[in-house]
Amino acid sequence: MPSTTFAPMPNAEGYFGPYGGQLVPPHLKQAMDDIASAYAQITQREDFQQELAQLFADYVGRPSPIFHARRLSAQLGGAQIHLKREDLNHTGAHKINHCLGEALLARFMGKKKVIAETGAGQHGVALATACALVGIPCEIHMGQVDIEKEHPNVTKMRILGCKLVAVTRGAATLKEAVDSAFEEYLHNPTDYLYAIGSVVGPHPFPMMVRDFQSIVGREARAQFLEKHGRLPDHVAACVGGGSNAMGIFTAFLDDASVHLVGVEPSGEGTDKPGRHAATLTMGKPGAIHGMACYVLENADGEPAAVHSIASGLDYPGVGPQHSYLKDIGRVDYQAASDAECLEAFMALSRVEGIIPALESAHAVAWAMRTAPGLPADQHILVNLSGRGDKDADFVAQRLGL
Ligand SMILES: *Cc1c(COP(=O)(O)O)cnc(C)c1O
Repeated sequence: MPSTTFAPMPNAEGYFGPYGGQLVPPHLKQAMDDIASAYAQITQREDFQQELAQLFADYVGRPSPIFHARRLSAQLGGAQIHLKREDLNHTGAHKINHCLGEALLARFMGKKKVIAETGAGQHGVALATACALVGIPCEIHMGQVDIEKEHPNVTKMRILGCKLVAVTRGAATLKEAVDSAFEEYLHNPTDYLYAIGSVVGPHPFPMMVRDFQSIVGREARAQFLEKHGRLPDHVAACVGGGSNAMGIFTAFLDDASVHLVGVEPSGEGTDKPGRHAATLTMGKPGAIHGMACYVLENADGEPAAVHSIASGLDYPGVGPQHSYLKDIGRVDYQAASDAECLEAFMALSRVEGIIPALESAHAVAWAMRTAPGLPADQHILVNLSGRGDKDADFVAQRLGL
């Protein structure tokens, strides 16, 4: 039996080493504990497991394939680059994996409504999709400023039948949307489920979202072994909150030979405070959104302003398990800039005919930077977390195409 060092994480209080936990007021802690115990029971149930597996197969289109990017690898001249194609999932990204899990959990728990906030709208669309399918009302809070910017996602959410709450207070962006969604949740935590969009927030969310996403790594590990008779040498994924990265890393944590790389956005440069979102690279241990984790703070000790060309990556915190994996050195956290991201976005589009999400292009950028220095018999597996249709107009405008 291999030693499963990482399998029991987190502990019963939701800690990954010193990170995670439930840094929330007592009434909210009770609600989180209720979700944790319901989750523990429901995920053991055969009917839950079977329904989720069936939806992953017939609705999401799992397993997603692994594609050998031969032309890109040859052009770079070095290690072989392979892509785990989460961009081919229904709705075009990995987010549907945990949104389906959360929506199904809500139905099994007998919840009457699922609530969430959304920034650019990606989480909102994935959750509205899952709730439409599972048949449970969905309420998404979104800042008025974001509503005006993210037209296609707003339209999709309306079509999918979720209740969209426009938040007009303060700066009317993500932070205010979080506050507003939380207030609504606190009106009735017994009947509502708050659906967090990454491996962040109070326990049990970092664990639940990781578990729902871990299908990505389980598939990838088996697919790679079957195709190549060996494991990849490197596995890379972009890190915003960290869900797609935990999704692919989890299956490889105990494989000491596999170099795991989390790629954060260095935006316009890690030397420019407020113009990057490289939380693990530049931040320090702190707390945000009900969890202990690495945080980017400004001089006043408040969460810093952050920036990335990829709106799904601009978050001043990061999942607690990533914080722990950084400290123990199991995962190597690197960064890629806006400029490198754009270059990777165009390269993958022009050389392989795959338009990646700007988020995912950060992981591709790391692979493109690293492959030339490695021998041709080494293999890099990149989690291509999503497709770039949502980013096409922006990139074309930015590059004058
Ligand atoms: C939201 C998003 C991300 C970032 O979220 P993680 O929780 O870090 O995975 C990455 N890629 C895509 C395509 C996204 O939509």
